[in-house]
Amino acid sequence: MNSFKDSCNAVSGPNSTAEDSSVSGGCSTQAADETHVNPRNALWPTYAPPMEIVFSHGRGSELFTTDGTVYLDFISGIAVTGFGHAHPRLVNALHDQSKHLWHLSNLFRVPEAERLAKRLVDNCFGDRVFFTNSGAESCEAGLKAIRGYHAFKGNAERYRIISMSGAFHGRTLGAISAAGNPSHTKGFIPFDYGFDQVPWGDLPALEAAISEETAGIVLEPVQGEGGVRPVSEAFMHGVRNLCDHHGILLMFDEVQCGMGRTGKMFAHQHYDVTPDVMALAKGIGGGFPLGACVATEAVASAMGIGTHGSTYGGNPLAAAVANTIMDLLLEEDCLSEVQRKGELLQKLLQGLVRKFPNQLKAVSGKGLMIGVECVIPNTDLLKLLRDHHLLVGKAGGNMLRFLPPLNVSDEHLQQACDIFESVLEANGEALAKATSAQIV
Ligand SMILES: *Cc1c(COP(=O)(O)O)cnc(C)c1O
Repeated sequence: MNSFKDSCNAVSGPNSTAEDSSVSGGCSTQAADETHVNPRNALWPTYAPPMEIVFSHGRGSELFTTDGTVYLDFISGIAVTGFGHAHPRLVNALHDQSKHLWHLSNLFRVPEAERLAKRLVDNCFGDRVFFTNSGAESCEAGLKAIRGYHAFKGNAERYRIISMSGAFHGRTLGAISAAGNPSHTKGFIPFDYGFDQVPWGDLPALEAAISEETAGIVLEPVQGEGGVRPVSEAFMHGVRNLCDHHGILLMFDEVQCGMGRTGKMFAHQHYDVTPDVMALAKGIGGGFPLGACVATEAVASAMGIGTHGSTYGGNPLAAAVANTIMDLLLEEDCLSEVQRKGELLQKLLQGLVRKFPNQLKAVSGKGLMIGVECVIPNTDLLKLLRDHHLLVGKAGGNMLRFLPPLNVSDEHLQQACDIFESVLEANGEALAKATSAQIV
């Protein structure tokens, strides 16, 4: 038991590298010997990963299992590893910083974080940044700032926040209250936390939901979990106008769609609209846990000393990696390449939709954040693709979600679609056989 634990810990330890096959091989050998013990027994049963797959390392868009099988990674840890696995410049940034300073807390200045904040605000509407460690925390910071902005101006009666159906803002109490997804709130939110929900994209319903108590509106410019759906230009402008008219703050949750994912640095930059607050995480750290909440001066100035805090938020390791992510994103062709590759992948997937109308319905999304609406259950297809070594995600509305690394190659885009096509072809045959068998 103990040796099994030790070898598994070694795999996830900081010294495990692609070359270190003796370490990564150890876990699977041990796991095979321990067939009667579920190695996940000591974890909360909140997740259900496929037990038979254990990855030991990754390179770019590829993941390798302990037994040497190669998978094409088109989910990227849910839009996190935006520059793939083991990008040499990110590895170097983390390695270099790790030799100097890991952590100080925000009791002291962190120059890497100050620099990162400056670079973020130089590339968007915002004036000031608060660093966190995750998407939920970035949303929490933003939701608190919305309330704080009104409260510290003497308008504490304005505290309610309006959100969209299908939203996802993370799993803290505030974030599940905000998103209002019953399957997430059930058993955890016994009372009104001060959030009102309107149907996604419904401007009249949104206007009707605004009251004297409304402090802000929160939405994802491109909903991720809710079904990879971008809001319309008209809706974006309508929401901003309503906010300006009523003195309400607008917050964008760009935890998934930000950091270059849609082919712009931030997804709302596809629209001619800016928010007052923006939550970021996922791609910002490329796999190192980091989040950020960006705000205008007016909002940030309400969050004075002691109003909010985080022990780890923006620590030197995270900031060093994220500054390198910014270097990569700000390189001349990076974002235009994301747009080009996004269009290529959308085109290839649309070809499959046309070819397999009994299995696929439509393609949606922006840049390299792409959804494929399925006719057959998305979970079945996801598993079939995984069996053929292509990893994708799922989303609401019976969607499959494609989130390849931003620097994915054209060859890998083609390869993923070839795998998808062969799975759809084989699956179609199986369906046809099943149907003809019934007729006989
Ligand atoms: C993933 C996600 C979150 C939550 O991020 P965590 O890091 O899991 O807390 C919030 N909002 C959106 C849009 C997300 O996709």
